Amino acid sequence: MNRWLDEAIALATHNVTAGGGPFGALVVRGDEVVARGVNRVVPDLDPTAHAEVVAIRTACQALGDFRLTGCVLVSSCEPCPLCLSAALWARLDHVLYAADRDDAAKAGFDDREFYDVLARPRDTWPLRVTHHRTGTESTPFDTWTTTTSRIDY
Ligand SMILES: [Zn+2]
Repeated sequence: MNRWLDEAIALATHNVTAGGGPFGALVVRGDEVVARGVNRVVPDLDPTAHAEVVAIRTACQALGDFRLTGCVLVSSCEPCPLCLSAALWARLDHVLYAADRDDAAKAGFDDREFYDVLARPRDTWPLRVTHHRTGTESTPFDTWTTTTSRIDY
């Protein structure tokens, strides 16, 4: 367990000197590292390029599957809500992390703030979220559920 965490922490630390954020992650299956990821938000101009998302994307490409069942996501820091959701979508078995949201907050990152935002009513969020039905909003789902060739995920 420590071996994987140590590697994620080393990736995170090295990534700072490479112009990225201080986050690193691995996807591990059994005793094998399937993929590694580091935070690439600034160099890629991609706010979703968190280390865990990068590792998940790379692992899926390496395994040729959009499911990572049987794999563990190992992260230098507690996954933010985006990354935790990505782990759920990827159907990972386990998330293991070293630093937590409070450690990230001390370094100026919003992980804890976003967990707090999600726990509050939407009308208090800094982001306006609007639900507006059009009468046709179910069409994509109707098309999906009647398409026999679909691949459920
Ligand atoms: Zn994240």
